[in-house]
Amino acid sequence: MASFHVIYQALAIWTLIISLCGAKPTTAASETCDEIAKAINNNVGYPGEPGYDKENRDYYNSGLSALGPACIAFPTSAEDVSSIVKILGKREGVPFAVKSGGHSPNPGHSSVSGGVLIALREIKGTKFDKAKSIAYVKPGGHWWDVMKALNGTGQMIVGGRLGVVGIGGYLLQGGVSFLSGQYGLAADNIVEYETVLANGSIVNINQERHKDLMTAMRGSGSQFGIVTKFALKTYPVSKYWVGLRTYNCTREQYLEALQDFMANLANHPKASTLLPGGSPGLGNNALLGSIFKGLGSLSSLAETFGSKPKDVPKVQRDSTKSQDMMAIESIMGTFFGTHLFDYEKAGAQNYMDRSAANSTPSLFPVPLLYDGCKPPSDAFGKKFAQLPMISEVGSIVDYATTISVSNQIFEYFSTPTSFRTFTLPIIPHRPYFIGEVEDLFYNVSMSWLPKLKSIGSLGLVYQPFPHSFGKHAEASGGNAMGLKGSDHDRFVLEIPGVYISSADAPTMQAWGKDFTDRLAALVKDITVKSKAEGKIVGEYNPLFMNDAGTDQEVIGSYRDSQKFAALQKEVDPSGLFAKRAGGYKFATLV
Ligand SMILES: Cc1cc2nc3c(=O)[nH]c(=O)nc-3n(C[C@H](O)[C@H](O)[C@H](O)COP(=O)(O)OP(=O)(O)OC[C@H]3O[C@@H](n4cnc5c(N)ncnc54)[C@H](O)[C@@H]3O)c2cc1C
Repeated sequence: MASFHVIYQALAIWTLIISLCGAKPTTAASETCDEIAKAINNNVGYPGEPGYDKENRDYYNSGLSALGPACIAFPTSAEDVSSIVKILGKREGVPFAVKSGGHSPNPGHSSVSGGVLIALREIKGTKFDKAKSIAYVKPGGHWWDVMKALNGTGQMIVGGRLGVVGIGGYLLQGGVSFLSGQYGLAADNIVEYETVLANGSIVNINQERHKDLMTAMRGSGSQFGIVTKFALKTYPVSKYWVGLRTYNCTREQYLEALQDFMANLANHPKASTLLPGGSPGLGNNALLGSIFKGLGSLSSLAETFGSKPKDVPKVQRDSTKSQDMMAIESIMGTFFGTHLFDYEKAGAQNYMDRSAANSTPSLFPVPLLYDGCKPPSDAFGKKFAQLPMISEVGSIVDYATTISVSNQIFEYFSTPTSFRTFTLPIIPHRPYFIGEVEDLFYNVSMSWLPKLKSIGSLGLVYQPFPHSFGKHAEASGGNAMGLKGSDHDRFVLEIPGVYISSADAPTMQAWGKDFTDRLAALVKDITVKSKAEGKIVGEYNPLFMNDAGTDQEVIGSYRDSQKFAALQKEVDPSGLFAKRAGGYKFATLV
């Protein structure tokens, strides 16, 4: 009954989205497009034109191309953006969206049906001011472009972990980085936003002049204006260690070590990892394994899935780098190729019989990263240090190279995708809590898998979210999530769904919702029981916008959202950004 309700809700959302897909542009939308074209030197594309079609295809979630804007504006400066915003302001009822990298898989966020898409790809470039240690980053392009520009300066910014990811959405929503253990969320390292406000004015928003607005803009997405330039703090980062340690232990030992690592990131801030948990699904392991191993089958995979090569930057291979690159690729390839196969086996056993999987030793390869030449043995926490490690391979690379690995992985990879997230407290008196989460994930996922019409992958990725993020946030003046240094440690789940047929979209949405609903119930139950035993479970666990799904109540989960809702209304009294562009909005609260 519960699952019927979940499917029904998801179907309703998707029916609404599909009904909007490819909607014929209204006369008002067409006139708005023409007026914008006149104002910005005809840098506007219409359906059927190469510029339009290329941009409309360039989404991480290939399903978004079906929405189809009436036109796509390609501003080249903040002044162009200002002209567009002023025109939109006069034209009530014409919807619009702002797109930086197009990596949000959520329909209507950086995509729009029948309205105006403002694609920021031509507002691009990174400049480094050595004297101030500040990087000025424009929202067009991808993280690889930024890291490449900073490479060789000895300084880096807190930015995307994968080179292919877009810049604007990542920074505005919060942004977790390999450097976050040391410096916090990316948004908490922004010192100035050059922003086009709803009235078309171009304002440099900074801490000195706009204290409250700065706090509200850090981690609240696209609610206050269109950002045309970010000024970010930089930090000395030169050599970076990327490795794979393989442990021979039981699943229970592995998961407890993982939880220990996440619980203690504040104590070993230079360490980092990308930690896929389970990933059940017919073909998905083969799919991911093939991709990461770079078997040369990428083109055929792309053809099979009907996707087109994406316009993402290629890794520049020079003779000195290629060895590093190959080392990292083989490390990541081994991890994704081996780990997921092994893990699914363990997971499948676990699904039938958790105790057997938990007591049978198995191999657990873990990709690890460290800001420095060689991580100390306990760099990833005491419990990992105590596990029997059977091998370690590592390579010292520059940071930009680490970020660029993904360019090759995702170059040909574009399928329908969904995102979802959940923030969980680290519960020190339950060292196997992460195992409970993963058991639930398997049980829920296995029950949804047979409902898919095509093949799909139901994924789970763990991201540490320690209390130190709150310390960094407070030191910068606070962020919209309301993180504080006195908070408990947390971890954030990224729950991606990858599938082949768009017909599976409602099922994927329903699966994610079912899982997070049951997680909420599990945490509630544990909290009540812990309280009865006199033990504390951290209760403020705001959702992480970067990884959230369309229907998730991200803004409502922030502790000061009512205060920011009032500020948003003050800055955007006509509701231009609040009501006419998609994304997560404070306006839904008032
Ligand atoms: C493969 C992959 C890897 C990822 N890795 C990470 C990671 O390591 N860490 C992490 O935190 N997140 C990560 N994410 C999540 C990522 O941060 C979000 O998907 C983010 O939205 C991507 O930024 P974008 O510029 O491509 O967004 P878009 O899809 O272009 O935009 C997302 C939202 O931001 C708005 N927006 C974008 N630019 C502007 C602007 N300049 N002014 C106003 N509004 C704007 C859009 O209107 C939209 O609402 C990853 C996502 C993917 C798909």
